[in-house]
Amino acid sequence: MTLFTLLDQAAARFGEWGALYHGEQQVCTWAELRERALRLAGSFRGEPGTRIAVASENRPEIVELMFGIWAAEFVHVPINYKLHPREMADIVADSGAAHVFASPKIAAQLDVGVPVETIGGESYAQRHHADPVTPPDTDPAALAWLFYTSGTTGRSKGAMLSHRNLMAMTVAHLADFDAPDANSSLVHGAPMSHGSGLYIPPYVLRGARQVIPESGAFDPDEFLDLCEHHPGCSAFLAPTMVQRLVATGRPRPRHLRTVVYGGGPMYVDRLKKAMTAFGPVFVQLYGQGEAPMTITGLRRTDHLDADDAVLGSVGYARSGVAVAVVREDGSPAATGEIGEIVCRGDVVMSGYWNNPEATAATLRRGWLYTGDMGSFDDRGYLTLRDRSKDVVISGGSNIYPREVEEVLIEHPGVAEACVVGAPDEEWGEVVVAFIVGTADPTELDAHLLTRIARFKRPKRYEFIDELPKNSYGKVLKRELRAQLTR
Ligand code: AMP
Repeated sequence: MTLFTLLDQAAARFGEWGALYHGEQQVCTWAELRERALRLAGSFRGEPGTRIAVASENRPEIVELMFGIWAAEFVHVPINYKLHPREMADIVADSGAAHVFASPKIAAQLDVGVPVETIGGESYAQRHHADPVTPPDTDPAALAWLFYTSGTTGRSKGAMLSHRNLMAMTVAHLADFDAPDANSSLVHGAPMSHGSGLYIPPYVLRGARQVIPESGAFDPDEFLDLCEHHPGCSAFLAPTMVQRLVATGRPRPRHLRTVVYGGGPMYVDRLKKAMTAFGPVFVQLYGQGEAPMTITGLRRTDHLDADDAVLGSVGYARSGVAVAVVREDGSPAATGEIGEIVCRGDVVMSGYWNNPEATAATLRRGWLYTGDMGSFDDRGYLTLRDRSKDVVISGGSNIYPREVEEVLIEHPGVAEACVVGAPDEEWGEVVVAFIVGTADPTELDAHLLTRIARFKRPKRYEFIDELPKNSYGKVLKRELRAQLTR
């Protein structure tokens, strides 16, 4: 069984319903989408397991390519369209992709030593005249998706995700978070190469519309307009995208039903503002490419009447996933004790592509070591502190930047805040806060003193115009640290 089965089932049940939409315009029905994917597969040449890279802004063709690749028993290697052509070339080389499908803009910049075909171009159109293949009967353990991590702490690595991994993710999403049907829509605000694309399978299975904004990117007004137009809208959005929706000042669109946020910290203050603006539509996920979208989470109802400890947590274990916090020696941490978050289940990758050292360091005794630090409280909620590499150790005390950031962000003069450790002769490391905003350091100190321990206060504030972020919108703490040692 493969992920193609999901499209097969949707086409059988919802054949003539609209499947793909570009903006408000219908592109094709479920029966047509299935046919297009099978013909694409018929046009491919190569052994099962061949890697095919897709580098494009969000476009409707990404969906048919994804299912066409699976119908051919090939492996989907999506590349974030915001990466530099050199970074794209690294991923093509590392994955050993035999062919790249790229949007016109990206195709013009790519020189990678393997054929680069323009999506929507002449040769691409020809492929839809090939004979369709018969839907395959693939081993669920076969590789389906090479997920290149965002590389905030180092070079990007390819997490190997099988059909089984993504099926476990699909089932957990439908069990925990959302109940779409053929009168629902998935609006692709975030890149389809990552979070938003991973959500295609559960929504395809239920026959929900796939809606791709015409801009191919995230434009808050366009996104909100689409949620006025299409029925029962759900979307995955990064926390910064949610902030941008709130900043429009617009009310909740008529058909906005679910916003899944995650992939980076959502500060409690910002979450409350988002709930005030749009109501109880929010769902939180905590996951990583290595356990796609599925480690812990908070459902819509968990957000209602929740206290700050719950809103500031990443929720509890997702269906079918075991989650634990362990000490350095691998023994289980006590309730409230901070350790490394580990998880186990069918969602966990089989390893990193061509990287046995990284695999051995990350998969141990059957558990995925996430590199994230956290603790469980006595109600079973997991609170994520920081990536282990981001913890500041000052005078022997561990300081978790997220805790300081949560408080800084509450100050009206702070738009964004990021806390890192700077080397210090006396203390080993000291806390430094980078601030985007107009607040005065003395005011910030006073504000922090009313809420957190004195030793956690930044020794220094650095005011900057914007925080350095990677192409996924994640703050690059290593760059901030480097600025301090220059
Ligand atoms: P990636 O594999 O690129 O998606 O990055 C995954 C990392 O993003 C995780 O290991 C966490 O450090 C962070 N992350 C994911 N979800 C959340 C969340 N809900 N809150 C805070 N950080 C998160």
